[in-house]
Amino acid sequence: MMRRLVFMFLVVAMLPWHAMAAGRDTYTVIVSLDGLRWDYLDTYDVPFLNQLSREGVKAVMQPSFPSKTFPNHYTLATGLVPDHHGIISNTFWDRERGVEFSLGNKDTRSKGYYYGGDPVWLTAKRQGVPTAAVFWVGSDVAIQGDHPTYWRDYQTEQIDFPSRVDEIIKLLSMPEKKRPHLVMAYFEEPDRSGHDFGPVHRQTRRALEYLDSLLSLMWTRIQMLPIGSQVNLIITGDHGMTSVDPKRFVNINDYLPQRWVERACNDYPTLIYASKPEYIDSIYNALQGVDHIRAWKRGELPAYLNYGTNSNMGDVVVLPDVGWLFAYKPSKKQRGSHGFDHTAADMQVGFRAVGPDFKVGYEKPDRFRNVCIYPLLCHLLGVTPSPNDGSLDEVIDMLR
Ligand code: AMP
Ligand code: ZN
Ligand code: ZN
Repeated sequence: MMRRLVFMFLVVAMLPWHAMAAGRDTYTVIVSLDGLRWDYLDTYDVPFLNQLSREGVKAVMQPSFPSKTFPNHYTLATGLVPDHHGIISNTFWDRERGVEFSLGNKDTRSKGYYYGGDPVWLTAKRQGVPTAAVFWVGSDVAIQGDHPTYWRDYQTEQIDFPSRVDEIIKLLSMPEKKRPHLVMAYFEEPDRSGHDFGPVHRQTRRALEYLDSLLSLMWTRIQMLPIGSQVNLIITGDHGMTSVDPKRFVNINDYLPQRWVERACNDYPTLIYASKPEYIDSIYNALQGVDHIRAWKRGELPAYLNYGTNSNMGDVVVLPDVGWLFAYKPSKKQRGSHGFDHTAADMQVGFRAVGPDFKVGYEKPDRFRNVCIYPLLCHLLGVTPSPNDGSLDEVIDMLR
Protein backbone atom coordinates (compact mmCIF):
# COMPACT_ATOMS: atom_id res chain seq x y z
CA MET A 1 0.00 0.00 0.00
CA MET A 2 2.74 2.40 1.07
CA ARG A 3 4.69 1.58 -2.08
CA ARG A 4 1.66 2.31 -4.22
CA LEU A 5 1.15 5.67 -2.48
CA VAL A 6 4.79 6.61 -3.00
CA PHE A 7 4.50 5.62 -6.65
CA MET A 8 1.34 7.74 -7.08
CA PHE A 9 3.06 10.66 -5.41
CA LEU A 10 6.05 10.31 -7.72
CA VAL A 11 3.84 10.16 -10.80
CA VAL A 12 2.02 13.35 -9.78
CA ALA A 13 5.26 15.08 -8.78
CA MET A 14 6.85 14.17 -12.09
CA LEU A 15 3.94 15.51 -14.13
CA PRO A 16 4.93 18.87 -15.50
CA TRP A 17 2.93 21.59 -13.70
CA HIS A 18 1.28 22.54 -16.98
CA ALA A 19 -0.22 19.05 -17.43
CA MET A 20 -2.20 19.80 -14.32
CA ALA A 21 -2.89 23.37 -15.33
CA ALA A 22 -4.01 22.20 -18.78
CA GLY A 23 -7.36 21.56 -17.15
CA ARG A 24 -7.91 25.34 -17.47
CA ASP A 25 -11.42 25.93 -18.64
CA THR A 26 -10.91 28.83 -21.04
CA TYR A 27 -10.50 28.83 -24.81
CA THR A 28 -8.70 31.38 -26.93
CA VAL A 29 -9.44 32.42 -30.50
CA ILE A 30 -6.79 34.64 -32.07
CA VAL A 31 -7.71 36.24 -35.38
CA SER A 32 -5.10 37.87 -37.56
CA LEU A 33 -6.32 40.49 -39.99
CA ASP A 34 -3.40 40.94 -42.35
CA GLY A 35 -2.14 44.52 -42.47
CA LEU A 36 -4.32 45.79 -39.62
CA ARG A 37 -2.75 49.20 -39.20
CA TRP A 38 -3.39 50.40 -35.66
CA ASP A 39 -5.25 53.58 -36.53
CA TYR A 40 -7.73 51.91 -38.92
CA LEU A 41 -9.59 51.03 -35.75
CA ASP A 42 -9.89 54.67 -34.80
CA THR A 43 -10.59 56.18 -38.21
CA TYR A 44 -12.83 53.62 -39.89
CA ASP A 45 -16.35 52.72 -38.85
CA VAL A 46 -15.86 49.55 -36.83
CA PRO A 47 -18.55 49.33 -34.15
CA PHE A 48 -17.66 45.78 -33.15
CA LEU A 49 -13.97 46.52 -32.65
CA ASN A 50 -15.00 49.62 -30.68
CA GLN A 51 -17.26 47.45 -28.57
CA LEU A 52 -14.25 45.26 -27.80
CA SER A 53 -12.36 48.35 -26.58
CA ARG A 54 -15.18 49.01 -24.11
CA GLU A 55 -15.68 45.40 -23.05
CA GLY A 56 -12.06 44.33 -23.16
CA VAL A 57 -8.56 45.56 -23.94
CA LYS A 58 -7.40 48.09 -26.50
CA ALA A 59 -3.70 48.25 -27.36
CA VAL A 60 -1.16 48.94 -30.06
CA MET A 61 1.27 46.17 -30.93
CA GLN A 62 4.70 46.66 -32.49
CA PRO A 63 5.62 44.16 -35.19
CA SER A 64 9.09 42.65 -35.44
CA PHE A 65 11.50 43.61 -38.18
CA PRO A 66 10.88 43.20 -41.05
CA SER A 67 7.23 44.27 -41.00
CA LYS A 68 6.19 41.59 -43.49
CA THR A 69 3.58 38.83 -43.39
CA PHE A 70 5.55 35.58 -43.11
CA PRO A 71 8.17 36.82 -40.63
CA ASN A 72 5.56 38.34 -38.32
CA HIS A 73 2.93 35.61 -38.35
CA TYR A 74 5.61 33.16 -37.44
CA THR A 75 6.86 35.52 -34.73
CA LEU A 76 3.34 35.65 -33.29
CA ALA A 77 3.38 31.84 -33.27
CA THR A 78 6.85 31.37 -31.73
CA GLY A 79 7.72 34.50 -29.75
CA LEU A 80 11.01 34.67 -31.65
CA VAL A 81 12.11 37.57 -33.83
CA PRO A 82 12.51 36.62 -37.50
CA ASP A 83 16.31 36.63 -37.29
CA HIS A 84 15.99 33.88 -34.66
CA HIS A 85 13.13 31.77 -36.09
CA GLY A 86 14.50 31.74 -39.61
CA ILE A 87 11.63 33.15 -41.69
CA ILE A 88 13.66 36.30 -42.20
CA SER A 89 11.49 37.63 -45.04
CA ASN A 90 8.66 36.62 -47.36
CA THR A 91 11.44 35.79 -49.81
CA PHE A 92 15.08 34.98 -49.15
CA TRP A 93 17.90 33.12 -50.84
CA ASP A 94 19.10 29.84 -49.37
CA ARG A 95 22.64 29.85 -50.67
CA GLU A 96 23.54 26.44 -49.30
CA ARG A 97 20.75 24.69 -51.17
CA GLY A 98 20.70 27.12 -54.08
CA VAL A 99 16.96 27.75 -53.78
CA GLU A 100 14.79 30.73 -53.02
CA PHE A 101 12.37 30.48 -50.11
CA SER A 102 9.24 32.31 -51.09
CA LEU A 103 5.72 32.56 -49.72
CA GLY A 104 4.49 32.20 -53.29
CA ASN A 105 6.36 28.95 -53.89
CA LYS A 106 4.61 26.05 -52.20
CA ASP A 107 7.64 23.84 -52.67
CA THR A 108 9.99 25.97 -50.62
CA ARG A 109 7.52 27.49 -48.18
CA SER A 110 6.48 23.97 -47.15
CA LYS A 111 9.91 22.87 -46.02
CA GLY A 112 9.83 22.43 -42.26
CA TYR A 113 13.56 23.06 -41.85
CA TYR A 114 13.14 26.78 -42.53
CA TYR A 115 10.82 27.16 -39.54
CA GLY A 116 12.83 27.30 -36.34
CA GLY A 117 11.57 27.73 -32.80
CA ASP A 118 8.52 26.18 -31.28
CA PRO A 119 5.15 27.36 -32.63
CA VAL A 120 2.51 27.60 -29.92
CA TRP A 121 0.41 24.86 -31.53
CA LEU A 122 3.25 22.40 -30.98
CA THR A 123 4.11 23.69 -27.50
CA ALA A 124 0.48 23.17 -26.45
CA LYS A 125 -0.12 19.93 -28.32
CA ARG A 126 2.95 18.34 -26.75
CA GLN A 127 1.55 19.28 -23.34
CA GLY A 128 -1.79 17.64 -24.06
CA VAL A 129 -3.75 20.71 -25.23
CA PRO A 130 -5.44 20.39 -28.64
CA THR A 131 -4.93 23.34 -31.02
CA ALA A 132 -6.35 24.44 -34.38
CA ALA A 133 -5.46 26.77 -37.22
CA VAL A 134 -7.76 28.04 -39.94
CA PHE A 135 -4.76 29.17 -41.98
CA TRP A 136 -1.73 30.54 -40.18
CA VAL A 137 1.77 30.84 -41.54
CA GLY A 138 3.55 27.59 -40.68
CA SER A 139 0.45 25.66 -39.59
CA ASP A 140 0.28 23.75 -42.89
CA VAL A 141 4.00 22.93 -42.78
CA ALA A 142 5.31 19.84 -40.98
CA ILE A 143 7.43 21.67 -38.40
CA GLN A 144 9.38 19.22 -36.26
CA GLY A 145 7.32 16.71 -38.27
CA ASP A 146 4.02 17.92 -36.85
CA HIS A 147 1.03 20.29 -37.27
CA PRO A 148 -1.68 21.71 -35.01
CA THR A 149 -4.30 19.11 -34.04
CA TYR A 150 -6.60 20.62 -36.70
CA TRP A 151 -5.27 22.53 -39.69
CA ARG A 152 -5.77 23.01 -43.42
CA ASP A 153 -3.67 23.67 -46.46
CA TYR A 154 -3.33 27.34 -47.40
CA GLN A 155 -5.88 27.42 -50.23
CA THR A 156 -7.86 30.53 -49.48
CA GLU A 157 -10.00 30.23 -52.58
CA GLN A 158 -11.48 27.03 -51.16
CA ILE A 159 -12.85 28.69 -48.07
CA ASP A 160 -14.21 32.22 -48.12
CA PHE A 161 -14.33 34.54 -45.09
CA PRO A 162 -17.80 33.50 -43.79
CA SER A 163 -16.83 29.83 -44.15
CA ARG A 164 -13.74 30.47 -42.01
CA VAL A 165 -16.05 31.78 -39.30
CA ASP A 166 -18.22 28.65 -39.67
CA GLU A 167 -15.11 26.57 -39.23
CA ILE A 168 -14.11 28.41 -36.03
CA ILE A 169 -17.61 27.78 -34.61
CA LYS A 170 -17.41 24.13 -35.63
CA LEU A 171 -14.07 23.72 -33.87
CA LEU A 172 -15.41 25.28 -30.67
CA SER A 173 -18.46 23.01 -30.86
CA MET A 174 -16.47 19.78 -30.84
CA PRO A 175 -16.87 17.32 -27.97
CA GLU A 176 -14.95 18.52 -24.95
CA LYS A 177 -12.08 16.03 -25.18
CA LYS A 178 -11.38 16.90 -28.81
CA ARG A 179 -12.16 20.61 -28.64
CA PRO A 180 -9.13 22.83 -29.33
CA HIS A 181 -8.28 25.32 -26.58
CA LEU A 182 -6.53 27.53 -29.09
CA VAL A 183 -7.93 28.48 -32.50
CA MET A 184 -5.75 30.64 -34.75
CA ALA A 185 -7.40 32.14 -37.83
CA TYR A 186 -6.13 34.29 -40.67
CA PHE A 187 -7.82 36.71 -43.09
CA GLU A 188 -5.81 38.20 -45.96
CA GLU A 189 -7.63 41.56 -45.68
CA PRO A 190 -7.26 44.51 -45.19
CA ASP A 191 -3.70 43.88 -46.51
CA ARG A 192 -4.85 43.20 -50.05
CA SER A 193 -6.93 46.38 -50.30
CA GLY A 194 -4.18 48.31 -48.50
CA HIS A 195 -1.70 47.33 -51.24
CA ASP A 196 -4.08 47.92 -54.13
CA PHE A 197 -5.65 51.19 -53.01
CA GLY A 198 -3.50 52.52 -50.16
CA PRO A 199 -4.26 52.63 -46.45
CA VAL A 200 -6.50 55.68 -46.72
CA HIS A 201 -9.07 54.73 -49.32
CA ARG A 202 -12.73 53.79 -49.36
CA GLN A 203 -11.94 50.23 -50.56
CA THR A 204 -9.64 49.61 -47.61
CA ARG A 205 -12.29 51.13 -45.35
CA ARG A 206 -14.87 48.81 -46.91
CA ALA A 207 -12.67 45.74 -46.41
CA LEU A 208 -12.22 46.51 -42.74
CA GLU A 209 -15.86 47.40 -42.16
CA TYR A 210 -16.90 44.11 -43.72
CA LEU A 211 -14.51 42.21 -41.45
CA ASP A 212 -15.86 44.11 -38.47
CA SER A 213 -19.42 42.98 -39.20
CA LEU A 214 -18.30 39.42 -39.91
CA LEU A 215 -16.37 39.19 -36.64
CA SER A 216 -19.28 40.73 -34.76
CA LEU A 217 -21.49 37.92 -36.02
CA MET A 218 -18.80 35.41 -35.11
CA TRP A 219 -18.60 36.73 -31.55
CA THR A 220 -22.39 36.54 -31.18
CA ARG A 221 -22.32 32.93 -32.34
CA ILE A 222 -19.42 32.11 -30.00
CA GLN A 223 -21.30 33.55 -27.07
CA MET A 224 -24.32 31.41 -27.86
CA LEU A 225 -22.22 28.24 -27.50
CA PRO A 226 -22.39 26.34 -24.20
CA ILE A 227 -18.74 27.38 -23.61
CA GLY A 228 -19.39 30.95 -24.80
CA SER A 229 -18.50 32.66 -21.54
CA GLN A 230 -15.18 30.75 -21.40
CA VAL A 231 -13.87 32.05 -24.75
CA ASN A 232 -11.22 34.76 -25.09
CA LEU A 233 -11.07 36.55 -28.42
CA ILE A 234 -7.97 38.37 -29.63
CA ILE A 235 -8.12 40.38 -32.85
CA THR A 236 -4.84 41.67 -34.17
CA GLY A 237 -2.57 41.49 -37.22
CA ASP A 238 0.96 41.22 -38.50
CA HIS A 239 2.01 44.76 -39.49
CA GLY A 240 0.64 48.09 -40.66
CA MET A 241 0.59 49.74 -44.08
CA THR A 242 1.83 53.02 -45.56
CA SER A 243 1.16 54.90 -48.78
CA VAL A 244 3.67 54.43 -51.58
CA ASP A 245 4.00 56.17 -54.89
CA PRO A 246 6.03 55.07 -57.94
CA LYS A 247 7.59 58.55 -57.87
CA ARG A 248 9.24 57.85 -54.51
CA PHE A 249 11.53 55.27 -56.02
CA VAL A 250 15.25 54.45 -55.82
CA ASN A 251 16.39 52.29 -58.75
CA ILE A 252 18.81 49.46 -57.85
CA ASN A 253 20.24 49.60 -61.39
CA ASP A 254 21.48 53.15 -60.79
CA TYR A 255 23.90 51.89 -58.14
CA LEU A 256 24.70 48.21 -58.58
CA PRO A 257 26.06 46.54 -61.73
CA GLN A 258 24.33 43.20 -62.31
CA ARG A 259 27.63 41.28 -62.13
CA TRP A 260 28.06 42.16 -58.44
CA VAL A 261 24.74 40.63 -57.50
CA GLU A 262 24.01 36.92 -57.30
CA ARG A 263 20.48 37.65 -56.13
CA ALA A 264 18.46 40.53 -54.77
CA CYS A 265 15.37 39.45 -52.84
CA ASN A 266 13.42 42.55 -53.26
CA ASP A 267 10.87 42.58 -50.54
CA TYR A 268 11.47 45.20 -47.90
CA PRO A 269 14.16 45.11 -46.72
CA THR A 270 16.01 44.12 -49.89
CA LEU A 271 18.41 41.27 -49.19
CA ILE A 272 21.37 41.45 -51.55
CA TYR A 273 23.54 38.37 -52.01
CA ALA A 274 26.88 39.21 -53.66
CA SER A 275 28.01 37.11 -56.62
CA LYS A 276 31.53 36.98 -55.08
CA PRO A 277 32.69 37.82 -51.54
CA GLU A 278 34.89 40.63 -52.86
CA TYR A 279 31.80 42.46 -54.18
CA ILE A 280 30.24 42.78 -50.73
CA ASP A 281 32.29 45.91 -50.03
CA SER A 282 31.57 47.28 -53.51
CA ILE A 283 27.81 46.86 -53.00
CA TYR A 284 27.93 48.30 -49.51
CA ASN A 285 30.04 51.28 -50.54
CA ALA A 286 27.93 52.04 -53.62
CA LEU A 287 24.85 52.35 -51.44
CA GLN A 288 26.30 54.61 -48.75
CA GLY A 289 25.00 58.17 -48.81
CA VAL A 290 22.16 57.35 -51.23
CA ASP A 291 19.10 59.39 -50.28
CA HIS A 292 16.05 57.57 -48.89
CA ILE A 293 17.71 54.26 -48.18
CA ARG A 294 19.91 52.78 -45.47
CA ALA A 295 22.27 49.90 -46.25
CA TRP A 296 24.21 47.69 -43.87
CA LYS A 297 26.43 44.65 -44.12
CA ARG A 298 24.98 41.59 -42.43
CA GLY A 299 26.01 41.56 -38.79
CA GLU A 300 26.28 45.36 -38.71
CA LEU A 301 22.63 46.37 -38.44
CA PRO A 302 21.57 48.59 -35.54
CA ALA A 303 20.66 46.51 -32.49
CA TYR A 304 17.05 47.74 -32.32
CA LEU A 305 16.23 45.97 -35.61
CA ASN A 306 17.22 42.58 -34.15
CA TYR A 307 18.22 41.48 -37.61
CA GLY A 308 21.21 40.43 -39.64
CA THR A 309 22.71 37.34 -38.03
CA ASN A 310 20.66 34.52 -39.57
CA SER A 311 22.63 32.19 -41.84
CA ASN A 312 20.34 32.94 -44.80
CA MET A 313 20.74 36.70 -44.44
CA GLY A 314 21.78 38.74 -47.48
CA ASP A 315 25.34 40.04 -47.48
CA VAL A 316 23.93 43.57 -47.61
CA VAL A 317 20.54 44.59 -46.25
CA VAL A 318 18.88 47.66 -47.75
CA LEU A 319 15.97 49.42 -46.10
CA PRO A 320 14.17 52.30 -47.79
CA ASP A 321 12.65 55.12 -45.74
CA VAL A 322 8.99 54.67 -44.88
CA GLY A 323 6.95 55.17 -48.07
CA TRP A 324 9.94 54.84 -50.42
CA LEU A 325 10.65 51.97 -52.82
CA PHE A 326 14.00 50.39 -53.62
CA ALA A 327 13.66 48.08 -56.61
CA TYR A 328 14.59 47.35 -60.20
CA LYS A 329 11.24 48.64 -61.38
CA PRO A 330 8.61 50.68 -59.57
CA SER A 331 5.32 48.89 -59.20
CA LYS A 332 2.84 51.11 -60.99
CA LYS A 333 -0.14 49.45 -59.40
CA GLN A 334 0.86 49.38 -55.77
CA ARG A 335 -0.54 52.16 -53.57
CA GLY A 336 0.39 50.76 -50.18
CA SER A 337 3.28 48.77 -48.75
CA HIS A 338 5.00 47.61 -45.57
CA GLY A 339 8.25 45.94 -44.54
CA PHE A 340 9.69 49.24 -43.33
CA ASP A 341 11.26 50.08 -39.98
CA HIS A 342 9.07 48.20 -37.52
CA THR A 343 9.09 51.10 -35.07
CA ALA A 344 7.55 53.55 -37.58
CA ALA A 345 4.05 54.76 -36.73
CA ASP A 346 2.40 53.35 -39.88
CA MET A 347 3.79 49.86 -39.25
CA GLN A 348 2.08 49.49 -35.85
CA VAL A 349 -0.73 47.00 -35.46
CA GLY A 350 -4.18 47.21 -33.87
CA PHE A 351 -4.92 44.90 -30.96
CA ARG A 352 -8.24 44.15 -29.23
CA ALA A 353 -8.96 41.38 -26.76
CA VAL A 354 -12.02 40.37 -24.80
CA GLY A 355 -13.09 37.44 -22.67
CA PRO A 356 -12.86 35.97 -19.19
CA ASP A 357 -9.07 36.41 -18.88
CA PHE A 358 -8.96 40.03 -20.09
CA LYS A 359 -9.67 43.23 -18.20
CA VAL A 360 -12.76 45.24 -19.10
CA GLY A 361 -12.35 48.70 -20.61
CA TYR A 362 -8.56 48.71 -20.32
CA GLU A 363 -6.44 50.78 -22.67
CA LYS A 364 -2.82 49.72 -22.54
CA PRO A 365 -0.68 52.84 -22.16
CA ASP A 366 2.40 51.68 -24.11
CA ARG A 367 2.70 49.64 -27.24
CA PHE A 368 4.00 46.12 -26.71
CA ARG A 369 6.20 43.90 -28.88
CA ASN A 370 4.52 41.11 -30.86
CA VAL A 371 7.06 38.57 -29.49
CA CYS A 372 4.94 38.74 -26.31
CA ILE A 373 1.92 37.07 -27.95
CA TYR A 374 3.53 33.63 -27.66
CA PRO A 375 4.12 33.81 -23.88
CA LEU A 376 0.63 35.34 -23.53
CA LEU A 377 -1.00 32.46 -25.41
CA CYS A 378 0.99 29.90 -23.43
CA HIS A 379 -0.18 31.57 -20.23
CA LEU A 380 -3.82 31.54 -21.36
CA LEU A 381 -3.48 27.86 -22.28
CA GLY A 382 -1.73 26.95 -19.05
CA VAL A 383 1.29 25.48 -20.82
CA THR A 384 4.99 26.07 -20.28
CA PRO A 385 6.47 28.22 -23.04
CA SER A 386 9.65 27.26 -24.88
CA PRO A 387 12.50 29.78 -24.83
CA ASN A 388 11.47 32.93 -26.70
CA ASP A 389 12.27 36.63 -27.20
CA GLY A 390 9.08 37.89 -25.55
CA SER A 391 8.00 38.45 -21.99
CA LEU A 392 4.71 37.81 -20.24
CA ASP A 393 5.50 40.76 -17.94
CA GLU A 394 5.09 43.14 -20.85
CA VAL A 395 1.44 42.12 -21.38
CA ILE A 396 0.33 40.85 -17.97
CA ASP A 397 -1.34 44.20 -17.20
CA MET A 398 -4.03 43.34 -19.80
CA LEU A 399 -5.15 40.32 -17.78
CA ARG A 400 -7.57 40.18 -14.88
P1 AMP B 1 2.75 40.47 -47.94
O1 AMP B 1 3.50 40.52 -49.20
O2 AMP B 1 3.66 40.48 -46.74
O3 AMP B 1 1.69 41.49 -47.88
O4 AMP B 1 2.03 39.04 -47.90
C1 AMP B 1 0.62 38.90 -47.91
C2 AMP B 1 0.24 37.65 -48.60
O5 AMP B 1 0.68 36.52 -47.87
C3 AMP B 1 -1.26 37.48 -48.68
O6 AMP B 1 -1.75 37.94 -49.90
C4 AMP B 1 -1.48 36.00 -48.51
O7 AMP B 1 -2.06 35.41 -49.63
C5 AMP B 1 -0.09 35.43 -48.27
N1 AMP B 1 -0.17 34.45 -47.20
C6 AMP B 1 -0.61 34.62 -45.95
N2 AMP B 1 -0.57 33.48 -45.23
C7 AMP B 1 -0.08 32.54 -46.05
C8 AMP B 1 0.22 31.14 -45.89
N3 AMP B 1 -0.01 30.52 -44.74
N4 AMP B 1 0.73 30.50 -46.95
C9 AMP B 1 0.97 31.16 -48.12
N5 AMP B 1 0.70 32.46 -48.32
C10 AMP B 1 0.19 33.15 -47.31
ZN1 ZN C 1 0.81 40.86 -43.89
ZN1 ZN D 1 1.04 43.04 -47.48
